[in-house]
Amino acid sequence: MALANKYRPKSFSEVIGQDNAVVALRNIIKNQNFHNGYIFSGTRGVGKTTLGRLFAKALNCSNYDLEKGETCNVCTNCEAIQTNSHLDLIEIDAASRTGVDDMRELLDSVQYRPSQGKYKVYLIDEVHMLSMQSFNALLKTLEEPPSHVIFIMATTETHKIPKTIISRCLQFNLKLVSDELIKENIKKVFKEENVTSDEKSLDLLVELAKGSVRDSLTLSDQAISHCDGNLDEESISKLHGVLDLSSTTKLFDSIFINEADKVVEELKRYQSLDVNYEILFERALSFLHQKIIEMTLLDDKSTQSLNLYYQFFSNGLVDAKHTGKTRDCFDIAVLRCLTFTVKNKTELKKKSKLVKEIRPKPIKESLQTEDLKATEKLKKQELVEDNQLEKVKEEENKLENLKDLTSSNWLHIFDLLDLTGPSRAFFSNLQIEKVEENTIFFKGADMFAERINKENIQNLIDSLVRLGYPEYKLEIESSENAKNTPSSKWVKQRAEEIKIFKEEIISSDLLIKLKNDFGENIDASKITVIDHEE
Ligand SMILES: [Zn+2]
Repeated sequence: MALANKYRPKSFSEVIGQDNAVVALRNIIKNQNFHNGYIFSGTRGVGKTTLGRLFAKALNCSNYDLEKGETCNVCTNCEAIQTNSHLDLIEIDAASRTGVDDMRELLDSVQYRPSQGKYKVYLIDEVHMLSMQSFNALLKTLEEPPSHVIFIMATTETHKIPKTIISRCLQFNLKLVSDELIKENIKKVFKEENVTSDEKSLDLLVELAKGSVRDSLTLSDQAISHCDGNLDEESISKLHGVLDLSSTTKLFDSIFINEADKVVEELKRYQSLDVNYEILFERALSFLHQKIIEMTLLDDKSTQSLNLYYQFFSNGLVDAKHTGKTRDCFDIAVLRCLTFTVKNKTELKKKSKLVKEIRPKPIKESLQTEDLKATEKLKKQELVEDNQLEKVKEEENKLENLKDLTSSNWLHIFDLLDLTGPSRAFFSNLQIEKVEENTIFFKGADMFAERINKENIQNLIDSLVRLGYPEYKLEIESSENAKNTPSSKWVKQRAEEIKIFKEEIISSDLLIKLKNDFGENIDASKITVIDHEE
C-alpha cells in the first residue's frame, strides 16, 4: 500500500500543519453551528479533500466524541467513509463533470433524506472547473438547502468561483505545511516502516515536497524502492535530478568572487547531470532572499548587487515559465549575475599576481647581489599591494556612491534599472535636477516629459525599489536644456567609439601600406560607420 494512503490522517488529531482549520471544524460540530457550504482552498497536495472527508466522517460518526473532537473510526458510518462506500458521502470531480446536466442530476438527489448517516455530504473537488450554468444551479440549492445537506468544495483557484457562491460558504484557506513538520512526519513514518536514511536525504525529500505532506510520502515511496530501504543523499539526488544541497552555496561563492571559469564549469556539470532546473531556480532565490535579510540586519551596504541578482533569477523564472526553456533561462540568470559582480579583493589578488608575472625584469638585475634583489622584490610587492588597496577602495567608493540616488549618479544607476519599453525610452531622456527627501525632480524635453504617464512613473519607482532604493515620488518638469541624460551619454559614448574606430582604421597596417605603396591619403571624415545598433 502506498505510504500516502497508508498514512492518510484518519482523525482530526492526525492532520499535519492545518491546526486553525481543524480547531474551527471541531467547534462547528461541537456547537452544531452549520453553514450549508464549506470551501477548502489551497495549492495541490495540502490536504483539501482529506480534510473534507474527515469533516464528512465527523458529521456522520455515530459515536463522535464532542469533548476530544474525534471520530470513533469503528462505527458503521466511520468504516463506510474510510472504505469509500458510504451512501451519503457523494464525491464529485468537477473537472470531469462540468456540464449543467450533470449538476442538475446531482442536485435532484439533494431533496432525499440521508439513507445511512445524519447528513448527506456532497464533496465537490476542483469546484472552480464548473460551468457558469452549473454554478447557477448550485447557487439555487445553496440559497435554500434542506437541513440534512452539506456541501464541501475543494479548489486550488478560489478566484474562479463566483462571489455569490463564496459569500454563502465558510472558507478555509489551507496552508502549505512547514518543512519542519513534514520532516518530522517523514521521520516518524520511516521509523514505523524500518527505513534508514541520512539527514541530508530527508532534507532533499522535504525540499522536493514543497509543503505537501502527500507529496513527501509519495516521494519517500519512490526513494525507498530506489534505495532498497536505505536512503542516502547521493541516490536521492540522482533519482530526483537534484543536486546536493550545498551546490547552490558553491555556485554563488564563485559568482561573488567572479570566477567565471568555475561558474561555467558548474553550469556544464548541471547540464551533464540532467538536473531539475526549477529546483535550482527556487534554491537560488531562497539563498539570495536569506542573504539579503542577513546583510540588511548587519547594516551591510552591499545588498544592492544581491537585489539585482534576485531580480535576474526571478525574471529568469518568469521567462522560463513562458518559454519552457528552464535550463537556458537559469544559465542566463547566472551569467547576468557574473556580469554585474563587483570584482572583489580575491580577484584583485589574482590580478596582482599577473601584474607581478608580466613585470619586466630590472635591466641591471645581473649586477645586483641577492640581498638587493630581495629588497627590490619586497618594494615591488608593497607597490602592488598598495595598488590593490587602492582598487578595493575604488570599488567600495563606487558602491558607496550608488547608495543614494543623486543627479550625478543617475546615469550610472539608469544602466542598472530593469526598465523596458516606453518607460525606459522616456526616462532615458530625462535628467535628475535634484533629489529632496522622498522626491526626485526630473526635467526633460516636452516630447518626453509630457508623454510620461502614471504607468511609466510606477514602472520607474518599482524598478528603483527592486534595486534597493526607497519608494520615491516623482516630479517631472519640461525643459529644453536637459543635457545630462542617459540617452545623451550614450550618444557621446557612441561618438567617442566611432572616433576611436576611425583612428584605428587610419592607423591600420593595411591603410599605411596603401599610403606607402600608392601615395593615397585617407580622409577620416569620409569614413562612414554603418550603425547596426539602433
Ligand atoms: Zn464513528
